[in-house]
Amino acid sequence: MIDFRSDTFTRPGPGMLQAMLQAETGDDVFGEDPSVNQLEAMMAAYFGKAAALYCPSGTMSNQIAIKVHTVPGDEVICSHLAHVYIYEGGGIAFNAGAQVHPIIGSRGMITAAEVLAAINPDDVHKARTSLVCLENTANRGGGCCYDWEEMVKIKAVCQEHGLALHLDGARLFNALVATGQSPVAYGQLFDSISVCLNKGMGCPMGSVLLGSHEFIKAARRIRKKFGGGLRQAGFMAATGIYAMEHNLARLEADHQHAKQIAHALLEQSFTGHMLPVETNILIFEITGDWTPAAFAQHLKKADILVMPISATQVRMVTHLDITPEMVNKTCEVIAGMA
Ligand SMILES: *Cc1c(COP(=O)(O)O)cnc(C)c1O
Repeated sequence: MIDFRSDTFTRPGPGMLQAMLQAETGDDVFGEDPSVNQLEAMMAAYFGKAAALYCPSGTMSNQIAIKVHTVPGDEVICSHLAHVYIYEGGGIAFNAGAQVHPIIGSRGMITAAEVLAAINPDDVHKARTSLVCLENTANRGGGCCYDWEEMVKIKAVCQEHGLALHLDGARLFNALVATGQSPVAYGQLFDSISVCLNKGMGCPMGSVLLGSHEFIKAARRIRKKFGGGLRQAGFMAATGIYAMEHNLARLEADHQHAKQIAHALLEQSFTGHMLPVETNILIFEITGDWTPAAFAQHLKKADILVMPISATQVRMVTHLDITPEMVNKTCEVIAGMA
């Protein structure tokens, strides 16, 4: 199967499995797992942050961060398409007791002016605004990358109004590779960052949350309360160390593959509006005689899996387990459709 449904479908290859077999482990709840400690130190250094926390999933990293940055009754500003808002099971309400002020924005991204307009006044009728969450790359925006200057402006608004700034960087590595932006600059701009190792980096699981010593100390307590304190997590952390060393630079290939498929699709009249392809995600409309479901069904006959995400749109995601040959075959099948 050529699986474009998500970049979460990757399987660990021989090198990653070998890294797991050779991992030194201990009890991470006691802080004694050398591989977890190594991954956390490596990630903190990479982003120039004081500390890091290994978590089972990106959802847990985000939810821990939101819980630490807020108290119940607070309001969180984010895009109406933000993963933290629409794909985390209502976790902001459930885990933090906070509510969301969703902003329409554009392609899952929001501007400093929109953030400023969404901040509540100091008034007993209003929820206390305490946190802004950005997402980069923006998943529902078709993997688009934030403009650096806009994020700097958002940071200034946050500083002026005493708001914390969190980055859902599930695919931040894709943004770094696509834009050449510096990870340390991200570490300076955001109070906390969550990154996924289970997406483009090809790990079976795992996410890392980054922040100050004080923030990570509080986050560690919340991770325990959420049931995310793992014991010999080093077998998994070793996959993260391996991925940082072997799977980061190659994300560029995924971006090229996505552009190649976009090109083949845009040759076809049934392809409607396509979001700009900046990284590894394609989101496009299917029009005319084809529907997203029929398009997916047709490709499935050629062992190609894609994901209809609405009545009009299909999503395809390129990743580590998609080879150039698979991309060529997919483009041929698309070219053969009428
Ligand atoms: C995948 C994803 C997450 C978290 O995912 P998990 O599956 O919980 O690791 C968070 N934010 C975005 C934008 C994502 O795409």
